[in-house]
Amino acid sequence: MAARLAILRAVTLDVGGTWLTVRPSVGHVYAEMAAAWTGRRFEPARLTRQFVHAWRRRPDFDHSRAAWMEIVDETFAGLVSAPPSRTFFGDLYRRFGQPDVWRVDPALPELLGWMRSRGLRVGLISNWDLRLRPLLRALGLHDAFDVIVISAEVGFAKPSPAIYLRAADQWNLNPHEILHVGDELLHDFRGARQAGFRAVWVRPGLAGPTHMAIGSLSQLPDWLRQTGLASRMGT
Ligand SMILES: [Mg+2]
Repeated sequence: MAARLAILRAVTLDVGGTWLTVRPSVGHVYAEMAAAWTGRRFEPARLTRQFVHAWRRRPDFDHSRAAWMEIVDETFAGLVSAPPSRTFFGDLYRRFGQPDVWRVDPALPELLGWMRSRGLRVGLISNWDLRLRPLLRALGLHDAFDVIVISAEVGFAKPSPAIYLRAADQWNLNPHEILHVGDELLHDFRGARQAGFRAVWVRPGLAGPTHMAIGSLSQLPDWLRQTGLASRMGT
């Protein structure tokens, strides 16, 4: 009962797939790098498909450089004579640390302002490597968040409750006073709830909020109103 009626004091956002996506696509960036190295053309759509396949085979992906190397080699299997790990992987890895291959959801700045104006603290909880913090700085977003918890820095990854509790500890808040927003059912929605957080699942394309999901970040204020949390938010 206490948790149900508790005030919502903070919101944590996932990063990749929730408000940050590759532009124009993973396949385009991979094709560009491979072309620069081999002088040949690669079909971005095919590379994206092979990347997605390699990604989905690794539910316990640890976001290390070695793990990325395996994914990139698998994505290019049968398409290049020498695996990228022996050729252009280093260039590709650095490329994804640069801000211009990323697209920030245009709804993010307004949402951050809306949450701040209602007294909410805002943070990030992300399974990412050590490139994330410099990337956030390059995007001009690092200082927009009070708390940033990154798996590679803390040694725990979602869905472990430990990574969520790290954020709660940094704010000195109870988990049920925090709402986590993210696009992966297991890592974000279930992981957060297991840690005692509230959670809402981001399912791109969903027309409007349901009790557990929103179609994009821009629907978060409506979801908060519909769940009644909007009247119980703030410091
Ligand atoms: Mg995500």
